[in-house]
Amino acid sequence: MKITMAHGSGGRSTSELIGSIFGKYFSNPVLDKMEDASVVEGSGRIAITTDSFVVTPLFFPGGNIGRLSVCGTVNDLLMSGAVPKYITFGVILEEGCDTEDLEKIVASAAETAKEAGVIVVAGDTKVVEGNGGMYINTTGVGFVPEGMDVSASNCQAGDVILVSGHLGDHHAAILSTRMEISNSIESDNAPLREMVDAMKAAGVRLHAMRDVTRGGLGTVLHEFAQSSKACMEIREKDLPVSPEVKGFCGLLGLDPLYMGNEGKMLAVVPAEDAETALSCMKNSRYGENAGIIGEVSHEKDGSVLCHTPIGGVRIVSELIGEGLPRIC
Ligand code: MG
Repeated sequence: MKITMAHGSGGRSTSELIGSIFGKYFSNPVLDKMEDASVVEGSGRIAITTDSFVVTPLFFPGGNIGRLSVCGTVNDLLMSGAVPKYITFGVILEEGCDTEDLEKIVASAAETAKEAGVIVVAGDTKVVEGNGGMYINTTGVGFVPEGMDVSASNCQAGDVILVSGHLGDHHAAILSTRMEISNSIESDNAPLREMVDAMKAAGVRLHAMRDVTRGGLGTVLHEFAQSSKACMEIREKDLPVSPEVKGFCGLLGLDPLYMGNEGKMLAVVPAEDAETALSCMKNSRYGENAGIIGEVSHEKDGSVLCHTPIGGVRIVSELIGEGLPRIC
């Protein structure tokens, strides 16, 4: 079945669509009450984040816009040190959108939410004229434990920088699909709940965390360097990039340092906690290729330096512009 303007009328077609797809997969005691606003439990410091997802194509190797829309928001909550609890799911459908596709996307979002330990507490559906497209907005709410203080401004000289796995996978997967290049590259879109929970449980002092998304690792390192007024020094030989993505980047002249992921994170921790953090990452789902990639110093405050395999040092420049839109 195709979505028509009637599905956005607010009448019977709308309620049938909501019941048969959204209600079916997102069902939980809070949402099922179908009130104008959900009332939920919680206290203390609240973390809130919102993100809109406009990726094309809607399905790509390794994932889809539904899984992505949950991962993106849950990971942002996790990076603030919060424990994710609730998520909202607003969808804008273009006329002509296939309901079978919509159902697959919603089912995938529901499965990802379950894995990430969040429940969907509110949602909205609108239909607009168009060409079968779909856009999703998710807002996440989490609670920050007592004493937790994770911030891009907390990086200190002597701290160690870790990344949780291969760079550029999501970006390369989307580009390959769009350019109809056939290869085995898959998006890494994944919720990082298990990994962050493991580091917290092991008592790792998490100074700064950020998920590596649009703009890539280079962009996150710049944000850390500027917020912390410190220098982020990385070693090129330690940057994890899969052979497939390395080959793909070589072919197109792309730099994995600026390519987006949707299931990788950067963590900055005191040197004494680095090995524990690394083993937590490596033993978690999605973290098998994690590695230590550098250290924080005061060599050149506000900058990112990269040590090359032949013993040189280059300044990693900030990404100017973004030539590759709609990867998330
Ligand atoms: Mg983020």
